[in-house]
Amino acid sequence: MKVFYSDYFVLPLPEGHRFPMVKYSMLRERVAASGICGSEEMLLPRAVSDAEILRSHARGYLRRVVAGTLTGKEMRRIGFPWSERMVERSRRASGGTLGACLAALGDGFGANLAGGTHHAFTGRGEGYCVFNDSAIAARAVRAAGLVERVVVIDTDVHQGNGTAAILRGDTTVFTFSIHGAKNFPFHKEESDLDIALPDGADDGEFLAALEYGLERALEGSRAELAIYLAGADPFEGDRLGRLRVSKEGLAERDRIVLGSCRERGIPVAVTMAGGYARDVEDTVDIHLRSIEKAATLLDLKRGVVDG
Ligand SMILES: [Zn+2]
Repeated sequence: MKVFYSDYFVLPLPEGHRFPMVKYSMLRERVAASGICGSEEMLLPRAVSDAEILRSHARGYLRRVVAGTLTGKEMRRIGFPWSERMVERSRRASGGTLGACLAALGDGFGANLAGGTHHAFTGRGEGYCVFNDSAIAARAVRAAGLVERVVVIDTDVHQGNGTAAILRGDTTVFTFSIHGAKNFPFHKEESDLDIALPDGADDGEFLAALEYGLERALEGSRAELAIYLAGADPFEGDRLGRLRVSKEGLAERDRIVLGSCRERGIPVAVTMAGGYARDVEDTVDIHLRSIEKAATLLDLKRGVVDG
């Protein structure tokens, strides 16, 4: 399976910063060691262009991000210090999702070892998100004439508020978000389908709601491509999650989402989104299992095609 990774994903941060940046390089090591992809399938994402970004973001916002002239307040809302490297990282994270979409359209599945920057709005960023990779990638594949309709399946514990806002009124992209009702962002936007779960929701509650929502999203969207945000933060050991979903529950989530798409013949680009477990190894385990599941289904599909 084609997997996209760049050393730019690991942004150097000031000491004591709470974002677990190391998860990306750890995940890359685990993916490389697992045999999920050969060395020729671990690919460098390109940086998305201004024109690609401008399909989803305001020109003034892009200009100020690039120039480093966002206000202190705007940067605090994003949560990373500005640097040219931060800008390049944001372009490459979106490039990884676009690459995963194109790989999925060819192979059935593809993965970005970062991405899921769903809190980025047209004219501002927040929650560690600068550019909205799902919106940028969906509109790039649409503009290339590769698909008519895309579905975004956002299972990160935080609502995909930026994605919902950017894509509101865009009938070619269906947005589905399942998230914690009381979690950040405290003002929720309106996705095409939202499911808000109470604090402490466990495997049973989470998975039942997911199956219900997924069915509606896949039926309603008639999508030819899915972008799946496999956030690791609904996990019971997450510092920010507020839910009580186990690792096994999250593996079952992957099976349900990826399996349902495969049954319907919908290619899936898998992106990582959030993960803030007290032990970063847990976050990496959860992300790795999402990628492994996609790779397994891809091999099954190849087996069917070949045999
Ligand atoms: Zn999150």
